Amino acid sequence: MGRLFWEVAAGEARQELRTAGFPRARQEPVSPVGSRKKPLEMRAPGAGAASREGIADLGGGVFQLPTDYPAVCNAPLWSYLVASGGKFALIDPGVRSTRTATLAAAVSAAGLDPAAADLVIATHGHPDHSGGQRSWADAVPGVRVAAPLEDVPWVESFDRQWVRCWDDYPGTLDLRAGRADLEALCVPEPTVDLMLRDGDTVQVGGRGRELAVVQTSGHTWGHCAYLDRQTGALFTGDAVQGHGTRSSDGADVFAPMYVDVAETRRGLRRLAGLPFTLLCPAHVPPMSRDDGLAFIQDSLDFVDEAEALARDLVRQKAPGPVLTRDLCLVIARLTGTDPPVTPQVVATARAHLYALAREGLLEAAWLPAPGDQDRPATGPSG
Ligand SMILES: [Zn+2]
Repeated sequence: MGRLFWEVAAGEARQELRTAGFPRARQEPVSPVGSRKKPLEMRAPGAGAASREGIADLGGGVFQLPTDYPAVCNAPLWSYLVASGGKFALIDPGVRSTRTATLAAAVSAAGLDPAAADLVIATHGHPDHSGGQRSWADAVPGVRVAAPLEDVPWVESFDRQWVRCWDDYPGTLDLRAGRADLEALCVPEPTVDLMLRDGDTVQVGGRGRELAVVQTSGHTWGHCAYLDRQTGALFTGDAVQGHGTRSSDGADVFAPMYVDVAETRRGLRRLAGLPFTLLCPAHVPPMSRDDGLAFIQDSLDFVDEAEALARDLVRQKAPGPVLTRDLCLVIARLTGTDPPVTPQVVATARAHLYALAREGLLEAAWLPAPGDQDRPATGPSG
C-alpha cells in the first residue's frame, strides 16, 4: 500500500514525489469519535423534556436514552427507543458495553421490559452505533438486528471495517496503535437479520408502528435515517453534523465526517424534504423541526465552506502537489479540531479531494511510503 497524495497535474512534481519518499508519521491512536485521554462523567441529555435518570420522554412512545459513550470516548451519544405494544425498537444502541452500562436500566425506567426488545437498528456501521447490537442479540432471543445494506459488511466484520475505513489512510493517518481499543467497542459482531434499503419500511412490535428507511449516504456508504411515521420523529444518526460536535469535556471539536461530498449533500437535502416534527441526531440532543431544518442547513453550509477551502488550497499549491494532510490542516482550522489530523478530518478532506479530482482539477496519485509493505491487509496489529 502506498502513500496517498494529490497533485494538480502529472509532471515533474509527481516524479519527484514518487521517488523522494516520506518518513512515516505515526498519529496518536484515536477513537472513532474522540480521544480516550480525558474520560468524563456522563452528561444528561439536553432535550428539555422531562428527564428521569437521564432519560427524555419525547412523546408518543419515543424516548431518548443515555449511553456510556461520553465516559468511554469523550463524545456525547444517545440512543433512541420507539415503543409499540409493549415491545420496542432501539435505534443506535451504542457500543458493546452500553446495554449493561446504561440502556437496560434506562429501558426499564421508560416503563418497558428490556427482554421485550424487538428490533435493534443501526443508522450505520461505525462502532458507536452498531457496536451494541450483538449484546442485545445475545441477551434477548428473537430480537431482530437491522442495518443499512452497504454497511452490513462493517457491522458483521470489524476486520472488514478496519481495512476499508480506519486503516484506509496510509501516509496520512495511522491508527494501528489504537486498533484494540476500537475493536473492544464492537467485537464480537452481530449477524444482521434485516438488510435495509432505501424505501423499506420496518415494523416495530408487530402493532402497525413503522419506521421508514431513508438512505442518506455520505457519512458512510450505507448510512440511513429512520422516520417514525406515527410521531414524525426522524432519527438521523450521523448524517446531520453541522460544523462538528463538541467533545463531552468541551475541549475539542469532532469535525463533520463524510466519505463522499455529493452523497452527503443529497442526503441532507432529502432529510430537509421529509415531514419530520423532531430531529433526533446521535451526538446532539433532539430538536424541533425549525431547529432541525436550521441544523441541516448548517451542515450543508459546512460542506460548501470545506469545498471552498479545498478549491483555494488547490489554487495556492498549483502546480505542486496537494497532500491530504494539507487539506486536513485547513479543515481542522475551520472546525477548531486539535490535533488536526483525526479520522473525521481525514475522511472529509479526502472526500473533497476526490470530488475535485472528478472535476479534473486534481489527479490522484499514490506514493509508495517506506515501511508500508509491512502493513498487514487484515488481522490484529499494533
Ligand atoms: Zn458515524
